[in-house]
Amino acid sequence: QIAEWKKLRDEPTVSADGKHVELAANIGTPNDVNGVIENGGEGVGLYRTEFLYMGRDKLPSEEIQYNAYRTVLENMKGKPVVVRTLDIGGDKELPYLDLPKEMNPFLGFRAIRLCLDRQDIFRTQLRALLRASVHGDLRIMFPMIATLGEFRAARDLLLEEKAKLREEGKEVSDNIQLGIMVEIPSTAVLADQFAKEVDFFSIGTNDLIQYTMAADRMNEQVSYLYQPYNPAILRLVKNVIDAAHAEGKWTGMCGEMAGDATAIPLLLGLGLDEFSMSATSILPARSQISKLSAADMKDLAAKALQLGTAEEVAALVQSIAK
Ligand code: PEP
Ligand code: MG
Repeated sequence: QIAEWKKLRDEPTVSADGKHVELAANIGTPNDVNGVIENGGEGVGLYRTEFLYMGRDKLPSEEIQYNAYRTVLENMKGKPVVVRTLDIGGDKELPYLDLPKEMNPFLGFRAIRLCLDRQDIFRTQLRALLRASVHGDLRIMFPMIATLGEFRAARDLLLEEKAKLREEGKEVSDNIQLGIMVEIPSTAVLADQFAKEVDFFSIGTNDLIQYTMAADRMNEQVSYLYQPYNPAILRLVKNVIDAAHAEGKWTGMCGEMAGDATAIPLLLGLGLDEFSMSATSILPARSQISKLSAADMKDLAAKALQLGTAEEVAALVQSIAK
C-alpha cells in the first residue's frame, strides 16, 4: 500500500470519474513544509500562525514574521499557501498579552475580534504578509469571522497597509486571494452574501461543529454532541460550497473532518474543492479519492442531506464503504 501511495506523490488528485480536487496540508511552522512536500501536498491549506506568537516573551516583530512567511512561500515553490491571521484567545493564551478572564472564552474576545481591536498587532502581521507575498502564491485568511462587517474592516486594514507599503517603495503582489474561515454558523448561513466579497472560504469544522451544536469541543461530557455527520452540519457545509460556486469562488475545509477517511466520500459528493489535512493523511486520501466516483458520491451526499440524525448518516456512509 505504501508503494502505491508513493507513486501518487507527484500526481494530481482525481476521482475515478475524472473530478479534480486539491489536497493541501495544515502546518504550524515553516519546518513543517518538508513533510508537506514529501507527502505530495498540492499546497498549504492552513498555516496556523499562532505558533509564531507562542513560546516567546513578546510579540514577534514584522521582520521575524516576514522571514517565516517568506520561507514557507519559497519552499512551497509557487504552490498555494493559505496563511491564517492570528487566532489567539479562547483556549490559546499569550503570557505577554494581558487579556481579561472570561466566562466563556470560546465565545469571547479572540481571533479577528482581538485583531480588529488591537490594530497594532494586526497591522504588523498584515505588513509582514504583504511583504512576503511576492515570494509565492499567498492567500490570506481571517479566522472567526461572524459578520460581513468584520470581514470588510479586516480587508480595509489590509488595503491600507498595502497602500502604505507601496508608498514606501516596497513590492507587494497584486494577486493575493483573500478569504475567510467559515467556523461560525452565522457566516455559514449567510455564505451567499460573503461569497460576493471574498475570494474563497475554508470551513473550520472543529469550531463550526462546536458552535452549531453548542457543545464545547474540549468537554468530554458533551462530546456525544460533537457530531460531524449531523445533517445540520452537512447542510451548512453544502450551503457554503454552493454559495461559493454560484459566485465562481472555491471552498476548502481545514478542520479535522477534511482528513477523515470516512467523511471524504461525503465531502467529495458535496462538491468540496480543497481538503486541508495533516500531511501524512494526504497520500491515503489521494488514493481513496482515485477509487471513488464523484457522481455516485453526489447521490450519496444528496441522500445524507435528507436524513435526520448523525447515526443515520454514519450508517449510510458505511453501507457505501462495503
Ligand atoms: C477549525 O476550527 O476547524 C480550525 C481549523 O481552526 P482551529 O482548530 O485552529 O480552531
Ligand atoms: Mg477554529
